[in-house]
Amino acid sequence: MAKKSFRKEIFTYFIVVFILFTVAIVFFQYEREKHYRSAQLENTLDNITEMTHRFIEENNLLEGNIIKRIKEVEVIIPQSNVRITVIDINGIVLYDSYVDDYFSMENHLHRPEIQKALREGKGSNIRKSATTGLEYYYYSKKYVDYFIRTAVVYNIQIKNFLKAGRAFFIFMIAIFIVIGISLYLVTGRLSESITRLKDFALKAGNNEPIPYDTPFPDNELGIIGNQITQIYSSLKDKTDDLIREKEKLLNHLNALNEGIAFFSNEKKKTLSNSHFIQYINVLSSKTIKSDKDIFEIKGFKKLNKFLSEYLNDNYSLDINSLPQYNYSLNIGERYFQIQSIVFPDKSFEVMITDITRLEKRRLLKQQLTSNIAHELKTPLSSIKGYLETIIDNWPIPEDKLKYFLDKTFDQSERLTDLINDVSLLNNIEDAGDLFQMKTTNLSKLIAEVHENFANRITEKNIEFINQINQKIKLNGNESLLYSVFQNLIENSIKYGGEGIRIVIKLYHEDQKYYYFSYSDTGPGIPEEHLSRIFERFYRVDHGRTRQMGGTGLGLAIVKNAVQLHKGDISVRNKQKRGLEFLFSLAKF
Ligand code: ADP
Repeated sequence: MAKKSFRKEIFTYFIVVFILFTVAIVFFQYEREKHYRSAQLENTLDNITEMTHRFIEENNLLEGNIIKRIKEVEVIIPQSNVRITVIDINGIVLYDSYVDDYFSMENHLHRPEIQKALREGKGSNIRKSATTGLEYYYYSKKYVDYFIRTAVVYNIQIKNFLKAGRAFFIFMIAIFIVIGISLYLVTGRLSESITRLKDFALKAGNNEPIPYDTPFPDNELGIIGNQITQIYSSLKDKTDDLIREKEKLLNHLNALNEGIAFFSNEKKKTLSNSHFIQYINVLSSKTIKSDKDIFEIKGFKKLNKFLSEYLNDNYSLDINSLPQYNYSLNIGERYFQIQSIVFPDKSFEVMITDITRLEKRRLLKQQLTSNIAHELKTPLSSIKGYLETIIDNWPIPEDKLKYFLDKTFDQSERLTDLINDVSLLNNIEDAGDLFQMKTTNLSKLIAEVHENFANRITEKNIEFINQINQKIKLNGNESLLYSVFQNLIENSIKYGGEGIRIVIKLYHEDQKYYYFSYSDTGPGIPEEHLSRIFERFYRVDHGRTRQMGGTGLGLAIVKNAVQLHKGDISVRNKQKRGLEFLFSLAKF
């Protein structure tokens, strides 16, 4: 399309210029031809004039005012179409070869050619004849007694002229064709470059892929085209690289747990990850619609103060010591850390970290430490009390001494249990990976636990039913699974009372999990406590539990151990009587 129009344009210019040029040459030629013809005519007419004059002189034809036998002059003159007029000095026509009654013709003294001849001896004029109506070339010459005027029809016909200039026209047409063809070829090459440049520009504009395989034609436009495409391609490569890097960065940012965003000097967001958007919406009391809303968040007061100090134009920043700020925020149940860095170009970064878990853990650890301290204090102060009694009452009877020493031993056992439980829990929580997993036969494991408690079970007249199939095996840690059943069974023995029944069974199974039920027919637990019994040190009845020798960590250990086996645990009171634990353990 553009190829055509470009060519068409060049061709139109060419044709216009060529036609103007040709017209100019033709006009010039025509003028020259006219001039030449006139000169030729004048020469011929002068000859005829001379011949006529001589004829009149030699034959003494002029007698007074009459020219005799003038008609004879026509015989000797070769050109029959020449009009001959003899006019006397006063302008009276003495003879006219074209007009029979010439004596009645009007006075010719004022004819331009006669006037000229009067002044200069000879004169010519081209005009239409009043007598014949044709255009004539008049030529007149003054002699002593008269003027002789000759005239021929003046026709420089275009046809004649064209005939005369045929060679010239053929030459012009040939030139036109040659120039036309070369122009066609040249414009072809030019327009190829231009078309390719146009296609390139369109594709680049629309961001379409550009084929670089065919080079531009070897001309100046082609060189420009090649240069432009090369510059463009290297630019595009760089932009593509940048886009890829940016994507990588974004993917990386999105994989982060932190919310991170970059802002321009004018506090316009340039880049952010999805966590950032989530967090600022948690931090804000309303939905964040524009970048401006971000900095209106109440919790960002401190951040704004920091930014207003460093985004100031007067403040110049050193890349090696960029201003940083960080503080923590508490919104309801959640805790966030806000960090910001201002860069030398006064753009800046805001990072939001959800530290709820860490913070809660910190608080929990704090609480736990004080709980542990408290728990340790009780048996320790008992031990101390018994030993004091012994020392203060020394010497004391042997049976009393034995009694106090037995009590001291019990308390030290309790202390050991407590320390063991705390360290086991800590290990599960902080170093779960260290527990080795291997194929474990659950039924066998439960039988072992049962055997360990055999005495107490018989003592309390407990019916123990292990319905777990011998074949059930799972990938687990033996000592942790042992702890699970040990704690559950021990609790039943401790809190269930006499003559209860313990049932352990597999109630469901799917591709990934085994689902177990552990139940006893003891008193169960009041509903209001159920949701909390997996918490550390949570006890339903403090005094009684302690008396039973519980640490308050048993069920916390059970829950953590189940979770380490990718399972879950819940508890409920049975409809009739007793407590039931439902838990799952991953097969692999
Ligand atoms: P402890 O080590 O003190 O036994 P646990 O975490 O094992 O602590 O148990 C928490 C509380 O749940 C106990 O204090 C007890 O009151 C109650 N409990 C646990 N198991 C049973 C059960 N089978 N029947 C009745 N109450 C139970």
